[in-house]
Amino acid sequence: MRTPLLAANWKMNKTIEEALQFVGPFLQAANAEEGKGLWPEILICPPFTALPALSAALAESSVGLGGQDVFWEKQGAFTGEISPGMLKDAGCTYVIVGHSERRHLLGETDEMVEAKVRAALNEGLRPVICVGETLEEREKGDTYEVCRRMTRLGLAGVKPDEASSVVMAYEPVWAIGTGKEAKPEDAGKVVRHIRETVDAVLGPGGSAQVRVLYGGSVKSANIRQFMLDEDIDGALVGGASLDPVEFARIASEIRKVRPPR
Ligand code: PEP
Repeated sequence: MRTPLLAANWKMNKTIEEALQFVGPFLQAANAEEGKGLWPEILICPPFTALPALSAALAESSVGLGGQDVFWEKQGAFTGEISPGMLKDAGCTYVIVGHSERRHLLGETDEMVEAKVRAALNEGLRPVICVGETLEEREKGDTYEVCRRMTRLGLAGVKPDEASSVVMAYEPVWAIGTGKEAKPEDAGKVVRHIRETVDAVLGPGGSAQVRVLYGGSVKSANIRQFMLDEDIDGALVGGASLDPVEFARIASEIRKVRPPR
């Protein structure tokens, strides 16, 4: 049984002060609701600037921290980039790689994603690899092919014994930030296709260890329907993760469908 994961992608939102203001209300709402330890596993990916302060503020909790991106080199003349070691130094255990905003707004290629995944794993960071089709690709019937390609190349440098460190996130680009989530049955089919691709790359049984999340306009009102599909292990949440009480509600909905073991 894979542990469900709820990940927040704050994107380019929140100053250090605003990030710190999230912590108290979130922990209170997340703990108070059930009176249990945090479940599912919770991950926050804030802007880089807020990482050290959040790391200190969350030190007594089981909330994890992740970067929103990483570079593939360890150090050197790469202005504006951040290394896997720097993310670890700032308190991260995860890093988002290949988010569609980076692929489509900033020209990140499958090869760059592959290099970033490898660099993250080399440093002991768990990559959250985002894959998903644009509306145009979906309308052309290319959803499966696009997700297969992104998954195959994203995992190209991953060794079979690293499978449990990898998280995949199926994020249809047309569902991100639009308020139009995918139909759960459609998301489930693509997630199963991603799992088949994971098995093809990492060997049979690989996908049993890899958590696959859904992302795209998730909120507390719709997370349940995704979690009813046993192949979906949680969610990567943008907009709705900015509000501590709403984010705690999403965690609570996940707990109802997948109670702590
Ligand atoms: C995202 O940015 O990964 C995302 C899923 O955003 P939103 O939840 O706002 O659609």
